[in-house]
Amino acid sequence: MSTRVSPTRPIHWPSTITLFGTSIAAIILVPLYAWFNDYSTAAWLSFIVLSILNGMSITAGYHRLWAHRTYEAHWIVRFVVMFFGTMAVQNSVLIWASGHRTHHRHVDDPKRDPYSAKRGFWFSHMGWMIRKHDSGKEDFSNAPDLLKDPMVMFQHRHYTVLALGINFGLPMLIGYCVNDLWGVMLLGGLMRLVWSHQTTFLINSLAHIWGQRPYTDQNTARDNAILAIFTYGEGYHNYHHQFQYDYRNGIKWYHIDPTKWLIASLSYLGLTKKLKRCDTFAIEKARIAMQFKRAEEKMLAQPFSMQIQMESVKARLTQEYAHFSLVLQDWAKLKEAWYLETKNALKNSETMLPYKTKFKAMEVEMRLQRKRLQTLL
Ligand SMILES: [Zn+2]
Ligand SMILES: [Zn+2]
Repeated sequence: MSTRVSPTRPIHWPSTITLFGTSIAAIILVPLYAWFNDYSTAAWLSFIVLSILNGMSITAGYHRLWAHRTYEAHWIVRFVVMFFGTMAVQNSVLIWASGHRTHHRHVDDPKRDPYSAKRGFWFSHMGWMIRKHDSGKEDFSNAPDLLKDPMVMFQHRHYTVLALGINFGLPMLIGYCVNDLWGVMLLGGLMRLVWSHQTTFLINSLAHIWGQRPYTDQNTARDNAILAIFTYGEGYHNYHHQFQYDYRNGIKWYHIDPTKWLIASLSYLGLTKKLKRCDTFAIEKARIAMQFKRAEEKMLAQPFSMQIQMESVKARLTQEYAHFSLVLQDWAKLKEAWYLETKNALKNSETMLPYKTKFKAMEVEMRLQRKRLQTLL
């Protein structure tokens, strides 16, 4: 159900003209050109390559690097993702990342989340940019790190000139080089921009509506493998909202998360470092807690006659829950002991090894419990 908050706010003309102008122009001009001329292979390639470069600069740069600080990057990487992120026309890093931090902090709140999914699909997809909503007011107090970053501030100050220059300049240059100026301008320029916009916007809209919630049901964010394909891995949005400081969104090796693969690959070349991963135990804990919650809801939804038949399942669940609580207590104790040891000046790999082994064993235990619960439910 959507919640309407101040429906008639003044129109934000620069966003409206950019978003609707490019969309309408693409719908008319791209097929019209194809009617009279063939698009060259180079033009199609420019669309594919520039779409990927724009999309991944937003996910790896704007999102996981600047908004969440999930890793550190060499200035060359920062420059490249800033260049192609600017081309994606989603505003400056400062505005984007600050707004996104507010989204995480006040997720779903109709008054404070700039693109609250509780205000409906259209609002969270594009509506929030079309009008000047109170929830979208710029407030950089949550981005002191970015305000001190010279590269971020340079882009912020000169954003319009840079975005226009790159969007016209680069496709023109490519088009001139491959001898298909209009083909590249239309596919690599115009259609790429509209495609890149729409796929990114899906993360705020559809990724808060369609999919599973394995880690938390305290917000609307969903995990969705299909969306992950079009969003370079950002489809695992339920995980991301629960563990926002993880450089990964898809945590399994088979999860489609090209942004994670890119960041990890660059670390082998020394171009990214300090990649943050959330604790496996904490991840398992969240999943199991959700399983218990779902089991309880399922039981309560059963008619009374069925509830009697389910007594044995209930007993098993109580047993499992007691076990879960014990493991959590042990883990908290071990974590405290480990913390004290790491503060100890004499720490070395020998004294830390038993901790590693114990933590690993607990992770395995949690995984086994999750599997047991799955078969039980
Ligand atoms: Zn979100
Ligand atoms: Zn995020």
